[in-house]
Amino acid sequence: MTAPAFAHVPHPSPMADDVRAAAIADPVFGRVFTDHMVSIRYSEDRGWHDAQVMPRGPLSLDPATAVLHYAQEIFEGLKAYRLDDGSMALFRVEANAARFNESARRMAMAELPEQLFIEAVKQIVAVDAHWFPPVEGGALYLRPFMYASEVFLGVKPASEYHFLVIASPVGNYFKSGAPAVSLWVSDDYTRAAPGGTGAAKCGGNYAASLIAQSQAIAKGHDQVVFLDAAERRWIEELGGMNMFFVFDDGSIITPPLTGSILPGITRDALMTLARDAGLTVREEPYAIDQWQADAESGRLTESFACGTAAVVTPVGKVTRGDTSFTIGAGGPGQVTGMLKDRLVDIQRGRAADPYGWVTRL
Ligand SMILES: *Cc1c(COP(=O)(O)O)cnc(C)c1O
Repeated sequence: MTAPAFAHVPHPSPMADDVRAAAIADPVFGRVFTDHMVSIRYSEDRGWHDAQVMPRGPLSLDPATAVLHYAQEIFEGLKAYRLDDGSMALFRVEANAARFNESARRMAMAELPEQLFIEAVKQIVAVDAHWFPPVEGGALYLRPFMYASEVFLGVKPASEYHFLVIASPVGNYFKSGAPAVSLWVSDDYTRAAPGGTGAAKCGGNYAASLIAQSQAIAKGHDQVVFLDAAERRWIEELGGMNMFFVFDDGSIITPPLTGSILPGITRDALMTLARDAGLTVREEPYAIDQWQADAESGRLTESFACGTAAVVTPVGKVTRGDTSFTIGAGGPGQVTGMLKDRLVDIQRGRAADPYGWVTRL
């Protein structure tokens, strides 16, 4: 099918220049939004239609809108970067478009043509590029999402969907600028089970993970680590980041995509960069007890988490119940730093992009 053309409805009163400058000077992640949003509607009889770039504003929902009851909702997260020459670029947007549809299939939602997803993302960056934050590590964080908009309380896949893209200027994700995070292993809760929705980027996964994350914070840690649901033995991921483990023999491990782990695009990129840097990369289950034993013996030298929002985050300390162990010297490690630099240099256009990951706008 051909993509519908985007109608443009400019904001009647965009934020004043001085107010915007203050808002983007030091933005807290996810609190500041640009003037516009993209909106596209789907219905079974009309397909995708009514594509608009329009003023960002509240949605009006009937109380019987399906998403409010049965949580058919998925999202993506990606960043538009500013390159050193002043132009803007996207990183692996095709991968986000493909993953969005994988999530849609799992949640029995309508699929969005990938070119339409990519065009929607480009449209919001084009209209609100002047919202780019003038801070080191800054980006325009883009949040495409889709919810079941049919007004119906029957339990079935909806026949109407609403796709939107909003944009948020962001600085560095971890405000404290802490060199390494402290993780807390959840024994009470799991994030995803075999056959469940763990590999789909759906809001429900986050809803299920929040109580464990709150426990981690209450106990003085930064993030929660989830174990597998069946054996409570294998490390899966954090609430919103994938995990990597670095060993003293030049190898790294990341848990395999068995269906309960979200297939991160940062994870995938880092595996490629690590291989090309001469490291041996294995997608292999890694047990929580082994993690502690290897950290204590020195065989494991570094661990890090990764995702679009925070990029690469070194792990300094892990706590499970009453026991804690330190990773390496407790600060950022060399391999972690090298991989992060290589990734960021490609994202920012400072290094060659032999993989074709960057789309210049
Ligand atoms: C989005 C997400 C990630 C990271 O994926 P990226 O594509 O690297 O941003 C990891 N885990 C979960 C649960 C996620 O939702």
